[in-house]
Amino acid sequence: MDPNPTRRQVIKSALGGAAGVLFGAQVRAFGAQASAIRSEAEPLGNDLFLIRTPGEANVVAQVSSAGVLLVDGGSAQSVGMLTGVLSRLPGGGDVHTLFNTHWHPEQTGLNEQIGKAGRTIIAHENTRLWLTTDVTWPWIGRQFKRLPKIAQPNKTFYTNGKLDSGTQYGYISDAAHTDGDLYVYFPQQNVLAVGDVLSNQGWPVVDWVSGGWIAGIVGGLQRISTIGNDKTVIVPGRGPVMTMADLKTHYDMYGAIYDRLSKLLNSGRGPTEAVDAKPANGFVPTSRKGPR
Ligand SMILES: [Zn+2]
Repeated sequence: MDPNPTRRQVIKSALGGAAGVLFGAQVRAFGAQASAIRSEAEPLGNDLFLIRTPGEANVVAQVSSAGVLLVDGGSAQSVGMLTGVLSRLPGGGDVHTLFNTHWHPEQTGLNEQIGKAGRTIIAHENTRLWLTTDVTWPWIGRQFKRLPKIAQPNKTFYTNGKLDSGTQYGYISDAAHTDGDLYVYFPQQNVLAVGDVLSNQGWPVVDWVSGGWIAGIVGGLQRISTIGNDKTVIVPGRGPVMTMADLKTHYDMYGAIYDRLSKLLNSGRGPTEAVDAKPANGFVPTSRKGPR
């Protein structure tokens, strides 16, 4: 039990705010580069593909005789392009199941189409709740409208679950990116998709409005490092696939940034001063080649 929950709460929100400012601007800069747009499907092992579109978040597709399973569905603007790529996948068909790794519009743009088709949308219950309400990000004034009922997740869970195909999914309960983050693990292919809990292209956004904070990133990265094994291929929210060694590097980096922020705030500095002190100095946003 925390002996001093009020103070902890104060530090938590201060750190969350600082991290939001820290990471937000740089990720927006990456978004602005999205111009020459072309989606590409990259094989991840027999029936599994990573679909990458410049400016868009990663989408994982698994094809089978039952159709296509997706982990995240891109933004609403990319639906046409994604549908085109899916139709060209070997054995591709209609989407039967869509996972939302969290509620952000970069992941939930396909929800309406899937919901209207009567297919399954799986998410953590907190993600569904965020999608039933309007949200504002005060640090950039960005507003998000709730999704219509038909587009909201229709199969939610609290801890974990397993599909008949053997695919496993679970809650990343640390509030790394939001308070509804999930992972999807494909044991046969040894591929783990983790949404925006991990980014391989610039800094991740820490969405402190929906619960994310930097200690949550540290905890979340620790948690996902226990899924799979040292050969597991990790699909981050953005950028190329990563190894477990890459994940460890990120874990160490966020641990160091968190320590610096904690020291600054514990010494009586406010969030603005903490940001001015550039606690992320010495670390650069990653964009490295993955194992394949
Ligand atoms: Zn996100």
